Amino acid sequence: MCSKISYGSGPTGNLRRPALLRMAQDASALTGATAIKRTRLADLADVFAASAAFAARLAADPDATAYEVHEHRPDGVAGDLISGLSVLHPGRVGAEFAMTRGHIHARPDRPEIYACQAGHGLIHMEAPDGTTCPLELRPGDVAYVPPHWIHRSVNLGAADFVTLFCYPADAGQDYGVIAESGGMRTLILADGNGWREAPNPRYRPRDAAAQARLMRRTAA
Ligand code: ZN
Repeated sequence: MCSKISYGSGPTGNLRRPALLRMAQDASALTGATAIKRTRLADLADVFAASAAFAARLAADPDATAYEVHEHRPDGVAGDLISGLSVLHPGRVGAEFAMTRGHIHARPDRPEIYACQAGHGLIHMEAPDGTTCPLELRPGDVAYVPPHWIHRSVNLGAADFVTLFCYPADAGQDYGVIAESGGMRTLILADGNGWREAPNPRYRPRDAAAQARLMRRTAA
């Protein structure tokens, strides 16, 4: 595949090689990924509100994997794209659903898309001023995360919630932004067979300076 690409010393000498990424039929993996990153449930102790329920789940399976990211990262050059598959396993912690740690981009004006491939979940988003926007996804649905929005995945179902993501290669991730505010402003809680958004009692609103920091623009 693509074996005839030449890498000479001319103007096209730095051309990057095209890549084929192929999702497994059960949407559990991505062939062609340059890295697979596994996050353990044990690493998410500060993410869930119900600490007793979290401890009980962890005691039952201390090495449980919470989610995996199969990533295709050419490099971090501005103008390029990082893409990959996020596989978020199911499992409630108290009334909260399984979720990723979440982040804002280190260059916060960089956007992202998430295209649902399998399962049922949502992309929970929060603007620097605390405005929230949970977007529910099923296979075929695509969530656009605009610049400056904090975002995380939440698994509302009983199977893996799998999304294909794509974002600018120079975006980076700031994983501390949610913890610094005591969590996102709202919790996504089980409600009968569905879900509801509820105020997070631990949330500390950002002051004007913190909001301005997340609204800054960064050059390419
Ligand atoms: Zn992101």
